[in-house]
Amino acid sequence: MSKVFVFAEHKNGALKRGAMELLQAAQKSGNTVVAMAVGTGADKAAGEMAHHGAQEVHVVKDASLDAYNPEIYAAAVSMVLEKVQPQVLLASATSTARDLFPRIAARMKTGIASDCTELTISGDNVTAKKPVYSGKAFAAVAFENSPLKIVLMRANQLPVAAADASKTANVVEHTLAKPDLKTIIKEVVKGTSEKLDLTEANIIVSGGRGLKEASNFKLLNDLADVLGATVGASRAVVDAGWVSHGMQVGQTGKTVAPTLYIAVGVSGAIQHLAGMSGSKVIVAINNDPGAPIFQKATYGIVGDLFDVVPKLTEEFRKALKH
Ligand SMILES: Cc1cc2nc3c(=O)[nH]c(=O)nc-3n(C[C@H](O)[C@H](O)[C@H](O)COP(=O)(O)OP(=O)(O)OC[C@H]3O[C@@H](n4cnc5c(N)ncnc54)[C@H](O)[C@@H]3O)c2cc1C
Repeated sequence: MSKVFVFAEHKNGALKRGAMELLQAAQKSGNTVVAMAVGTGADKAAGEMAHHGAQEVHVVKDASLDAYNPEIYAAAVSMVLEKVQPQVLLASATSTARDLFPRIAARMKTGIASDCTELTISGDNVTAKKPVYSGKAFAAVAFENSPLKIVLMRANQLPVAAADASKTANVVEHTLAKPDLKTIIKEVVKGTSEKLDLTEANIIVSGGRGLKEASNFKLLNDLADVLGATVGASRAVVDAGWVSHGMQVGQTGKTVAPTLYIAVGVSGAIQHLAGMSGSKVIVAINNDPGAPIFQKATYGIVGDLFDVVPKLTEEFRKALKH
């Protein structure tokens, strides 16, 4: 039987949704599911990984893995991969994984498919689909002459089953022999937002130049608070200095795939669509019926956002009894 290895990201021991999706996909393939977590809290995450289907969990708790350093991460992951020898490796297409796994692929002389939205595993045969040309087309990816197949999947693309607390896993703890580092992380400055990062958010309310000025983002913050959503933005408003770059969705910003994406006063330029067209339901609010965003939207509201957004917030507040 083949081994599917899941690199599971967590936050202080709480497994990220993307990791749960991959564990479920690995389990569905009928192969042996082996998973790995690193950093402080990795041992706590191990239990959750078992509940989501991991049969064997590898943990490297070393605190030097708390902040992402590609050299230390590559050393830790390579060490475990050499022991486990899996045929398939799955990770979420986070900024960490997009940086780390090409390095691992090069070390192991193996193939990698990044930023995928569909995944099929049959034995150790893997195919994946990924958007290309800013989402205008999809490429089907298969592997050749690749004993290990690495696939990085966008989050929110696969289902997650409820955790089964009766499931347990064999947990193996490793000690990390630190490599001679060429770079060190001196400080990590955390964002102030308590909200979920855009790439993990299930609901996103995104604002564009139609908001007219920075202070009007309050309208979106109010709506987001009621919905439990994260606020995103177009590049136009990031470039204008209204919001930080961490909020930018699109080709040169973040790629998101929430269940619900509400685009407010966003025209829907191809570079913006490149980052959000994988959303399951797209609602566009725009006063121009010819705005390109309506071509992608599941539901469109043609109207003045300054009328529509407060009304939506009010109605959701009533419906959700906040
Ligand atoms: C190389 C490159 C990379 C890029 N990367 C990105 C990227 O990552 N992300 C990104 O977003 N863009 C990116 N862009 C920029 C992109 O081309 C657009 O310029 C940008 O997305 C436009 O932002 P916007 O929709 O907020 O503004 P606009 O295009 O100005 O649209 C504003 C919209 O608001 C509507 N509106 C105005 N008033 C109201 C109102 N009262 N009520 C309702 N609607 C209203 C208007 O009808 C209009 O459709 C990139 C461009 C290039 C060249």
